[in-house]
Amino acid sequence: MARAARQPAADPVLNRGLREIAAMSRAVGHSQEYAQGGGGNSSVKLADGRMLIKASGFRLQEVSSEGRGAVLVDYRAVREFFSRRPPRAPTSEDAATAFVNGQAVNLPGQDCRPSIETGFHSFLGVCVLHTHSVYANALNCAEHGEQTLAKLARNAGWRAIFVRFATPGLRLTEAVRAAAERYSSEHGSPPQVVFLQNHGLIVSGESAGECLRLHAAVNAKLRSFLKVRAGDYPQVRLKPTAGQRFVDGNRFLPRHLEETHAGGSYFLKHVICPDQVVYGLGGLTFTGDPAALVAVDAKKRCAYYSGTAKQAAAAAETLVAVAYVLELQRRAGLRPRLLKAVETKTILGMGSEKYRQRLLK
Ligand SMILES: [Zn+2]
Repeated sequence: MARAARQPAADPVLNRGLREIAAMSRAVGHSQEYAQGGGGNSSVKLADGRMLIKASGFRLQEVSSEGRGAVLVDYRAVREFFSRRPPRAPTSEDAATAFVNGQAVNLPGQDCRPSIETGFHSFLGVCVLHTHSVYANALNCAEHGEQTLAKLARNAGWRAIFVRFATPGLRLTEAVRAAAERYSSEHGSPPQVVFLQNHGLIVSGESAGECLRLHAAVNAKLRSFLKVRAGDYPQVRLKPTAGQRFVDGNRFLPRHLEETHAGGSYFLKHVICPDQVVYGLGGLTFTGDPAALVAVDAKKRCAYYSGTAKQAAAAAETLVAVAYVLELQRRAGLRPRLLKAVETKTILGMGSEKYRQRLLK
């Protein structure tokens, strides 16, 4: 279990870091097109070797400058742990997670675990912001998306890399580390933008402000390529209804399912990102089955979600984002790159993803 920090009030370095991580997390955390459910994370490296990172199971918008939703880790120790290992060494996912959790020092009043993606944060710049941007994912989750992203990055002058799909945690850390080190040795400086295939976007910089400006610029460029405006995104607006269910006031998902002639296995047949596996395989029904996570009333064009408010919101936001990405791809003539069955199975079996789901209850 993570230990509690001592005397935070007399720690100006920590307090400055907390203000940076909160500013970064809250600025994007309220936008469902960037952060759905507990997805996405942020970190700030302090001058003394500590790193503040979003805690697992919290939403980005919940990270506060008082320390809620954030954990401290020794990032040099995390970096060393992953660097010591030869690539693809047979260390288990659980051993890596246990090591990272063991480096955590909780802030007073908190009992959290660091984000599952702590590993890759340790290898990037001072401030790191990772989102599940739907605009980035329209290309990240498309066949040949890498070439288009490379062209856009070149034109915009971003120091960018593309990282092939790896399951979140140990494998993703290894993949980001290898790609970032290759880039640094070729260009003499680290990458500032990382596109993660079938997953999301990372920006990295010297300050929270630099990360936010870069995140905004990358997404604006992608929106212009995809010919959409920021205000077009179908925001989920859940309202409680009878029997521990919530209804989404936005008609986007039922309309999308109708237009694509989707059946109950739509989200199973179009698995494009890890969070979809975590939240989305609970079942989609058009018949009003109360056991299903999502029930769509085609006549009323309404989508109902079951579970607690937090679970329903995570499921609704994740599935709407997936459907929106598929819709953007359809309009732009892009073919989705689906996750392979073996990748989906690995994600389902991962302990830390289960932990995240449990926290959302
Ligand atoms: Zn992620």
